[in-house]
Amino acid sequence: MRRSLALVWCVLLIHGYGMAQTNGQATVYLTGYTWSKSNAAVGYVKLRKGEIKSITIGGEYQSAFKISKDHQLSVRADKWKAGAMYADVVVTVKTASGQESNTFRIVKDDFIRNKVIAHRGAWKNTGATENSIAALNHAIALGCEGSEFDVHMSADSLPVINHDASIQGVSIAKTNSSELLTMKLSNGESLPTLENYLKAGMVQNKTKLVLEIKPSELGKESSLALTHKIIALVEKLQVQAWVDYISFDYDVCKEVMKLAPYARVAYLKGDKNPAELAADKLFGLDYHFSVLQKNPDWLTDAKNRKLTINVWTVNDKPVLEELLKQNVDFITTNEPELLLSMLK
Ligand code: MG
Repeated sequence: MRRSLALVWCVLLIHGYGMAQTNGQATVYLTGYTWSKSNAAVGYVKLRKGEIKSITIGGEYQSAFKISKDHQLSVRADKWKAGAMYADVVVTVKTASGQESNTFRIVKDDFIRNKVIAHRGAWKNTGATENSIAALNHAIALGCEGSEFDVHMSADSLPVINHDASIQGVSIAKTNSSELLTMKLSNGESLPTLENYLKAGMVQNKTKLVLEIKPSELGKESSLALTHKIIALVEKLQVQAWVDYISFDYDVCKEVMKLAPYARVAYLKGDKNPAELAADKLFGLDYHFSVLQKNPDWLTDAKNRKLTINVWTVNDKPVLEELLKQNVDFITTNEPELLLSMLK
């Protein structure tokens, strides 16, 4: 009896102390997840709480990484496997209360910089349904810098991809995923889960995944619950390098940054000026083109404050031309083919 109790204690101790956490909500995170030939620095190792005593790195590709005294993770470019899109590194952090190991996927930054963000994927001229995995694959095949998509949450808390709060007359927020996932899009695809969508996007390192967190029809609490689900899933799948976040709900934007201080978050609604966004340390603004036409000084102001500028949803050639002239960072469009042709 005493021996078995001792064994139980031993098991509890092992699980409580030094247990590797690789699924969501880990304490350890990085401030960046990509590297390039011109910038081998990936990011700093940080803790959500507690103080770092020491850091060691490991894993199959350990030799391709190094860690500096001030906790910066970098890639040894000469040790990076030729042609590899990414490599996983295991980061073990010792704190006063124990240690924690996490695996992070570090991606070679071959992401395209051409400003073109396909709105709900590339669907209009390809025959794919908007927000389908097929539309994402078309945006990737076209060579867009990013592909945008919308995320809602089912009644049993599964994030799924759809623009509206309802699909085929059924409220996503009030319906369980078992029923939602039997639904077919008009191209025959099942309603995509966020997990399947992200997995489809992370097989390449050219096109970013621009994830819009939709405010819930059930209210703020549900919107924030969805935000938590999304960050946990992104971290479980190790897809941090690929994902940028956008939302019309400013509280959601701030919650993303609280949960994932490394995240690139842009605000969509247009009712905050660049100074306010910069004060909250957002990545950028992502406003309807009419907002910027009404506030022409916001372009320069945003640039001066190092905020990125994304403009939605622009489908007309004269406006696209004007925005290219203004050298905004991203243009979200239903006409990615047209915008791509204008870049040449
Ligand atoms: Mg959207």
